[in-house]
Amino acid sequence: AAKQAGRNRFHEFDAAQEREMLQMRAQIVHLREALAAGQFELYLQPKVDMRLGTVVGAEALARWNHPQRGVLSPGAFLPFIEGTELETLFGAWVVDAGLTLLDDFCKAGLQFPLSINIAAPHLQQKDFAPWMSEQLKAHPQAPVHLLDIEITEATALFHLDRVAQTLRELRALGITISLDDFGTGYSSLTYLRRLPLNTLKIDQSFVSGMMDQAGDLAIVQGVIGLARSFGYKVIAEGVETEDQGQMLLQMGCAQAQGYFIARPMPAAAFLTWLHSWQAPEAWVRLN
Ligand code: C2E
Ligand code: MG
Ligand code: MG
Ligand code: MG
Repeated sequence: AAKQAGRNRFHEFDAAQEREMLQMRAQIVHLREALAAGQFELYLQPKVDMRLGTVVGAEALARWNHPQRGVLSPGAFLPFIEGTELETLFGAWVVDAGLTLLDDFCKAGLQFPLSINIAAPHLQQKDFAPWMSEQLKAHPQAPVHLLDIEITEATALFHLDRVAQTLRELRALGITISLDDFGTGYSSLTYLRRLPLNTLKIDQSFVSGMMDQAGDLAIVQGVIGLARSFGYKVIAEGVETEDQGQMLLQMGCAQAQGYFIARPMPAAAFLTWLHSWQAPEAWVRLN
């Protein structure tokens, strides 16, 4: 009887796996159609200099305007993109949409870097840099020197020599490189000495913990020190309170992003926000 049950469980497991695979296939088809139908949009979240009270850039974050389910965040669709044949298609859409925004900013007289997120597996594809160079050709007017790529990590970067070469090629195109979510997941110290980076992004988990966890505070301080030693810029993610900003400023990290400053928003709202933003007194007073 036990053997019988075991076999049945095995069959059930098989069926569940098959169902999951079919769902995955269906999602991929669905996503491909949604991309073609223009249902994706880049929201923008400002990056500011807390000390100077200025906007120093923006990060583009993908959203899916789903006809039934409303605005979906990457957590709801990235798992169906990463590691599938959609990765390049989605990446191409992100690059294209990002360059379109840069072009628009430029025409509106705005001059600051725009960051787009590229997943590590995509960046590691052979010929990523030449592929990127091709994508750029569709936007000859866009100021490429204002394009920043944030390497976001779903998986580790293997073949660091090849990644380093890719990054050098990207930088030769005028693109700058940020290492996202630094200090979490697979993001290792080895990257610092092997990769030609411009900016380290302190992961929001450390920022949210640093006010009452000595360990998180030590890590934030450490990353700021490392960035300084390597000559990289540093920016803190996930600043949700004025006090967190204040503390970061006191530790020497002036650049920040986070809900306290602004949530990610559509481009039109971002342009309005730009003209209305004022840094809190307490931040600017530290000058
Ligand atoms: P990320 O690049 O580290 O982006 C930061 C995430 O934190 C964003 O979530 C942002 O909305 C959120 N965030 C910003 N400020 C705060 C804050 O103060 N508190 C909290 N709790 N969260 C904050 P989002 O937009 O859901 O994106 C999640 C992740 O999805 C991103 O993490 C990035 O890894 C990935 N992603 C987003 N857009 C793209 C894209 O176009 N391409 C690729 N490959 N990945 C993307
Ligand atoms: Mg990012
Ligand atoms: Mg991040
Ligand atoms: Mg992240």
